[in-house]
Amino acid sequence: MVIQRPPPHQLTMVLAFGSGLFTAILGVSAAVGWVAHIPSLIQVLPGNAPMQFNTAICFLLCGAALVCLGLDQDTPARITSAIAAGTALVTLLQYLFSIDFGIDQLFLVHYLTERSSHPGRMAPSSACCFLLAYITVEACIRSGRSPRLAFLSGTAASLIVMIGAIAFLGISVELHKEYYLGNMTQVAIHSSIGFILWGIGALACCWKRTTTHYPTVYWLPVSVGLGVATLNIGAWIAQEAENHTNLHSQTASAVSAAVDELRVRLNNLLDGIDRMALRWSIRNGTPIEEWRQDAAAHVAQISGLRNLGWIDHTLTVQYIEPIQGFEGVPGLDLNRYPSLVETIRFAEEHRVPALSPITETKSGKAILHILVPIFQQQGAGGFLFGEIGLEEFLAPTLGKSSNSLMFCLRSGQTTVFQSHGWEAAEGSIVETASATFPGHGAWTLSATPRNRVIQQGRAQKMVGVTGLLLALSTALTTLFAQKARANAQKLRHHQEHLEETVRRRTVELERSNRELEQFAYVASHDLQEPLRMVSSFTQLLSQRYSDKLDDEAHSWIDFAVEGAERMHGLINDLLEYSRVTTRGGGFEIIDSRVALDHALANLQISLNETGGIVTHGELPHLYANPVQLVQLFQNLIGNAIKFRGRHTPRIHVAAQPRQDHWVFSVTDNGIGIPERHKEKIFVIFQRLHSRREYKGTGIGLALCKRIVERHGGTIWLESEEGKGSTFFFTIPKHPQDSPLPTEEVTA
Ligand code: ADP
Repeated sequence: MVIQRPPPHQLTMVLAFGSGLFTAILGVSAAVGWVAHIPSLIQVLPGNAPMQFNTAICFLLCGAALVCLGLDQDTPARITSAIAAGTALVTLLQYLFSIDFGIDQLFLVHYLTERSSHPGRMAPSSACCFLLAYITVEACIRSGRSPRLAFLSGTAASLIVMIGAIAFLGISVELHKEYYLGNMTQVAIHSSIGFILWGIGALACCWKRTTTHYPTVYWLPVSVGLGVATLNIGAWIAQEAENHTNLHSQTASAVSAAVDELRVRLNNLLDGIDRMALRWSIRNGTPIEEWRQDAAAHVAQISGLRNLGWIDHTLTVQYIEPIQGFEGVPGLDLNRYPSLVETIRFAEEHRVPALSPITETKSGKAILHILVPIFQQQGAGGFLFGEIGLEEFLAPTLGKSSNSLMFCLRSGQTTVFQSHGWEAAEGSIVETASATFPGHGAWTLSATPRNRVIQQGRAQKMVGVTGLLLALSTALTTLFAQKARANAQKLRHHQEHLEETVRRRTVELERSNRELEQFAYVASHDLQEPLRMVSSFTQLLSQRYSDKLDDEAHSWIDFAVEGAERMHGLINDLLEYSRVTTRGGGFEIIDSRVALDHALANLQISLNETGGIVTHGELPHLYANPVQLVQLFQNLIGNAIKFRGRHTPRIHVAAQPRQDHWVFSVTDNGIGIPERHKEKIFVIFQRLHSRREYKGTGIGLALCKRIVERHGGTIWLESEEGKGSTFFFTIPKHPQDSPLPTEEVTA
């Protein structure tokens, strides 16, 4: 079965095309919603911001731009995104400079009631996204010109995804309502989804273009970093939402507890005065001293109660306890205070203790009065009244949580008490509870957490900092991973290039070696014949005309013959040298000891002549060419005999195993070789002595080297002049380590 691989950019095409189409349809549906009055298309989540008409049109334009970009239609992509960006720019300018260019409701009169200072105006974050969309499109189109533009396109698209995702998360947990940016329009939930998808589609386009032009996607680390940062902001948003929920419930329970306490305390106070009034009416008045003591005890016990007094039927103040601090004096006619009169009448009518409206003393302190009617058949009736300093009364209850909460107490519509800083409070979290008392006692207590309570806790700061560090480190990791990948790629290219060069050179070298070998073989073979002719005819000349030639001519002929013989020897050596590889023969497993014996047998005469002694250690079986191994031993031992010193030659052959090869050594007690000639002696026809001193042509060691190398080994020597030399050579242990014998040359 043939599996058809999709072309490399098919997925990016689908992504770009799909998200472009989706956003365009999103825009069209919202625009239709506006025109046809279908709120569900505009305001997907009831109570949340709608997608503005201009936003819908911009989505349509940008969606179309993305589709064009995916299809490589650059000019239409550019034009449509530029129109959207223009609208966004004008919107942002309107926000920045608080001006109205009239574009918000240019095409359609806004008809939804929403929480916005500018009905119909695109949200600022949406405007930023459309501007970024144009930057993405333009930079993506030009990305081939410079890697910076490629970077810009990916970064701008990533930012759009980020803004969209943050808006989405904020709306999902309803946190955006808490962080309301002044009165500016908010992003609709479907707009946020649109931005996320548009951004992803644009990233796909940027990926396609970047990888077309460059080996590395430069913007990837930024994208990854922003992605992680978005996740972190998401976690932060969730935590913040959780905090706000907790704060709401804490504030609500604190405010209702405070109201309950106030209610209980005030009721106790009312009951106390009511009981005094009851005692008064039962006893038909009270002696002044006794009354004073009773009142003083009440005032001392109840915080906030400044004075207690008695008013007679004519509403004239008669008793006051204590007298200090009372606004009026005994004898004061309360008929001058209509609101008090009204409360007195209310209390009388309803036969209950009643609260007066809250008023201010001359010194600016808020006070209120409790008025309790004394019901008596005859004699001194009237009213008992208590004057309450509001601040002192509220302090024990509201003071408890004043570190974390600020309070505002309203009686009816009038604010009677406010914690310090209430006016400046951001007021995102305000909870209210009410209590009602007879008379003017409709109290509403509101509470809001102090700013330092709303501000993020340590854990949340940690989330922020850790998240940022995480985003940074992920971005850096991606960057380094990309660099490492690029380096590895470069290295691989270099290696491939190097391997290719080596392979080509090796082939070339092998070819030229083969040619050279063939040349040497053919030349030496073919030179034999004419040389033989020169030699034999010169000898014939000397024999035939021996009586006609003088002595000088004879000695010249001898020189010529000797020269020809030497040349014959050299050519033979050359032939043999070239035969090492051209006609070397195959490899087989052989006993190296047998090869040594063979060599020694060949050297028997010279050994006998010199009295040389050859010893050897344990010798292994080898995968080698038997003839050449004999030749190798023979040359090395032959040299050891030839280059002996004054002593009888003593030669030792040994073999040491190594990991994957054997190291052979041939040690003699001969004349030794100076250090500087260690390399030279292995070169063909290189000798250290004249022919008169030691016979030879200088081919022996060159031949040895060639044989060893053919077997996949190396040869070297250690020597001390005058004391002897050791020649070492290696032979691989395993057949696969030996090179294949060179093909035989037929000539
Ligand atoms: P040849 O033996 O024909 O001179 P070789 O290639 O065998 O050529 O040797 C090259 C030179 O290396 C010799 O001329 C000799 O000077 C030196 N040589 C070789 N083997 C020994 C040895 N065992 N001891 C000292 N010198 C040596």
